[in-house]
Formats: sequence, structure tokens, C-alpha cells
Amino acid sequence: MSGPDGMMQEDGRQGRALEVRNLCKSFRVGSETFARSELVKAVDDVSFAIAAGTTMGLVGESGSGKSTVARMITRLITPDSGEILIDGVDVLQNRQAARSFARTVQIVFQDPTSSLNPRWKVGNLIAEGIRVHRLCPGNEVNGRVIALARRCGLDADSLDRYPHEFSGGQRQRIAIARALAVEPGIVVLDEPVSALDVSVQAQILALLQELQDAFGLTYLLIAHDLAVVERFCAHVAVMRHGQIVEAGDPHQIHSDPQHPYTRSLVEAHPVPDPRRRQRQTA
Ligand code: ADP
Ligand code: MG
Repeated sequence: MSGPDGMMQEDGRQGRALEVRNLCKSFRVGSETFARSELVKAVDDVSFAIAAGTTMGLVGESGSGKSTVARMITRLITPDSGEILIDGVDVLQNRQAARSFARTVQIVFQDPTSSLNPRWKVGNLIAEGIRVHRLCPGNEVNGRVIALARRCGLDADSLDRYPHEFSGGQRQRIAIARALAVEPGIVVLDEPVSALDVSVQAQILALLQELQDAFGLTYLLIAHDLAVVERFCAHVAVMRHGQIVEAGDPHQIHSDPQHPYTRSLVEAHPVPDPRRRQRQTA
């Protein structure tokens, strides 16, 4: 059964609603001695909400705090303050919720080589989460891994090989399959296509779209390029110096950026659509 906000898809999975309120995180940088170090506000009072089964884009130049937001949501680091709500439950306050939601939120990084253990075969990398969380009887794990790999565009032969034997795009398919293996409701995509050639980028984004449609996933799609999220997201937030400076419909923001920083971000990337370029220079 599908909840009022939830999207129910082909295998009964359901996307989850994600909301963050007033998230803050600072890092102490500089010299070892406290007196000479400096506190950098990486994320400074960030709030947004993503409806179940939808995608929000988060864009901003390098160092604006995007990955710090991603790492807090996926619980790799703890916020200094603020709330992270999944389906309305604050996972920072509610320890039981935190445990049950740990599997619900998965992350895909820009560089899959750092997240895929090079000594493991692809089949084992994808199967790990299924085994750890005992998502099915042991004799069914293989079948699930093969089906998921195929779904992500990897053939069955791939499962017996090691990550370094694959191209960047194929490695990202492996990382996506591994993230989806534990049946998440929310996937944080931290610059998933930034390191890939443009033609491969389009293929990976198409795959992510297909998987979202099939499983009703909720995505936070991080990019430094507004053009990438424009095609993919109904809603986008622009980050600068740890804060969201502008948010809304990506086409609107692209064609009529309000904040000077967003304007520079739009102008920094060439626009392939000649009609839009005319409008932009007009
Ligand atoms: P983005 O992903 O947008 O490039 P990050 O979230 O990685 O930005 O970084 C935001 C700011 O926080 C940067 O100034 C970065 O140097 C700093 N930062 C991030 N992680 C750490 C850390 N573990 N220690 C110290 N500073 C950090
Ligand atoms: Mg980053």
C-alpha cells in the first residue's frame, strides 16, 4: 500500500520524504594550536525539503558546502546543530529511527574508485549490503545481484571481475547497483557524473531516471553545473559559502537568475541550446 505522500512502484518500494532544517557544520582548520586555527562554517543554516519520489538539485562551486550537506544526510558526519527528518521523523533525536533509516539513505560519490574496494569482485560488492541486512535467504542473493546488475546495465560476466577492469561510467553503474541493493528510499548523488565524458554522463543520468521511475526513489542530486540538474530536477537550490542563496524551478533560475552568484554560475557554463544563448546575451 502506498502512503499519502509515498510513491509506490513496481516492487512495492517507496520513496521517502527528506527534510533538513537549519543544518550547521563547522570545521577547525589551520595550525594544530587552537589559538592559530580558524573555524570554517562549511554549512551555515541550510534548510530544504524533498517530496517522496522527486529530485532536488543542489548546485554551487567547489567548496560551497555541498558534500558536507551530503555527508550529514547520510550520517557520515554529525551536524553541529539542526534537524534531519525522514518521513517527518528527526533521525538525530530518535535513535531507533536512526537505526531503521540507516539503510534507507544511500550515497553515490563522484569517484567510485574510492568507494569500491579494489580487492572485491563486483558481484560481492553488490551483494554485501543484501547479506549484511539479510534482505533475502542466502540462496537467493545471487539471483538478486544478477537482476540488479542487469537493471543497471552490467552483464552477468561483470560480476566475476574487479572494479579496476571497468571504465569510469561502468564503475559508476557498479556504485549505483551497490547503493540500490539495500533497497533505499533516498539516494544522495554527490556529483555522480562530474568525472565522466559528456556522452557517458547522459547515459548515467538516463539510468538514474529509469531507476527512479521504477522504484520511486527520492534523489538529492549534487552538481557544480546547473545544466546537469536542469534536465533532471523539478526543484534546485543554489549554495554559496555554506548557505542557500537561491532556490526554485531550475529553468526559471537558469533563464532569470536573481542572485549575482547564480548569474555567474549560469554564465560560467556554455549553454548548448542556441535559442537560450541568444536570450542570455540579449
Ligand atoms: P563542496 O562539496 O561544495 O565542494 P565541501 O562540503 O566539500 O564543498 O566543503 C565545504 C568547505 O568545508 C570547504 O571550505 C572545505 O575546505 C571545508 N571542509 C570540508 N570538509 C572538511 C574537513 N573534514 N575538515 C576541514 N575542512 C573541511
Ligand atoms: Mg563536493
